[in-house]
Amino acid sequence: MPGASRQFLVGLILLLLAGGAIGWIYGYAERGILVAALLALFWQVRHLLAFVRAIRTGDFSVFRQGDGIWQQIFSAFSYQQGRAGRYKRQYRQLLREIRKSTDAMPDGAVILNEANEIVMCNRAAKTIAGLKPKKDRGQRVDNILRDPELTRLLRSNEFAQEIDIPSPVRDDGWLNCRVVPYGADQKMLFLRDVTDRIRLTRMRRDFVGNASHELRSPLTVISGYLDSMSDDPSVIAEWGQPIAQMRNQAQRMNRIVAELLELSRLESAGPADDTQLVDVAKLLTICRNALYQAGETPEIELEVASDAQLRGNNSEIESLITNLLSNAIRHTPADGRITLRWETSPAGGVLSVADNGEGINAEHLPRLTERFFRVDPGRAREDGGVGLGLAIVKHVLGRHDAKLDIESERGEGSRFICRFPAGRLSVSAPVPLRQPPASP
Ligand code: ADP
Repeated sequence: MPGASRQFLVGLILLLLAGGAIGWIYGYAERGILVAALLALFWQVRHLLAFVRAIRTGDFSVFRQGDGIWQQIFSAFSYQQGRAGRYKRQYRQLLREIRKSTDAMPDGAVILNEANEIVMCNRAAKTIAGLKPKKDRGQRVDNILRDPELTRLLRSNEFAQEIDIPSPVRDDGWLNCRVVPYGADQKMLFLRDVTDRIRLTRMRRDFVGNASHELRSPLTVISGYLDSMSDDPSVIAEWGQPIAQMRNQAQRMNRIVAELLELSRLESAGPADDTQLVDVAKLLTICRNALYQAGETPEIELEVASDAQLRGNNSEIESLITNLLSNAIRHTPADGRITLRWETSPAGGVLSVADNGEGINAEHLPRLTERFFRVDPGRAREDGGVGLGLAIVKHVLGRHDAKLDIESERGEGSRFICRFPAGRLSVSAPVPLRQPPASP
């Protein structure tokens, strides 16, 4: 190109000089230069128009030969065009590969923009959720998959959460939805068909519910007879001990059945009503007094730092407090201390039960809310532990959009913290700490 430019400039100067010389011979040197410049301009405009035409038609045969400036421009242009074409082909190939690999995924994947509109979706999203890759592009995904839980998930920034929604294409089908953020304001919605899992969970829940229900009547009869036999003076003395043991075990079975029934009721009910108001501070006092009266307990301190009420189910929250408090009592020595606390902040409400009892080894913490899990099954059986209390607590919290955190150290004590979202509170005004008088 530099050679061609020099050649072009030299040619132009020579032409202008020749024009000037011829003009000078005739006494009009300037006009001679002007005519030469016009000729040069005309030549360039012709080539420019030919080049524009060639770009339009793709026929560059005029520019293929020679080494003038226009041939140089053409070869630079065609080199860049070839490079752009190669990039385009590579990019298309890459897109095809990405599409093929996402289409091979068994789960649905939907790319969403910041307004939750569909940018792209794979084949599985079409099969399991009925999305149409072309027709639904640009539509808001929650206008197509209509479910209030999904709308809430998309609006919230709690991307760690997963929800199950009814399938829009399959009767009795269920989809698991998870949102993963990426790039600038983009999200990927993953959809998985979990119909089999939900069906199995329901079967298990129904089985446990039905079996517990069926066991209730025979157990009531057995307990009734054992109660009358233990009070009956005509029963021979040697039977006293076995009857007492049978009564004990029957009572334990009654408790297991009652807790299993409560669990299966909690599992099958939807989220707890949020129109009822629960006075948490009052409930804490009631539960504490009830347990104080039930027997010898460690000192129970009550710290109420908020008069906010909770939108939810009164008897479920009462069961939650009773479970946590009776656990703390069972695992804290009589000279220990238990603290019940209710406080709120703009983030929500926190109900905690802390003790300075025996504590729990860190390795057991993740399994505490599993049904029938006990750190020491033998001891738990002796002190009346069934292993369902914390499972009930977890379900009650789930139905109130809340979660449970457990902090514990062996030999130091434990703290069970229930965190309720701000949306479940009726007022969130902090009040000075107050200590209701202790009951005997
Ligand atoms: P359980 O009816 O046996 O108390 P839970 O589900 O309520 O069943 O509790 C499960 C296990 O967690 C208990 O067996 C006990 O080992 C442990 N645990 C619960 N609360 C406490 C606590 N406050 N201190 C120490 N261990 C606890």
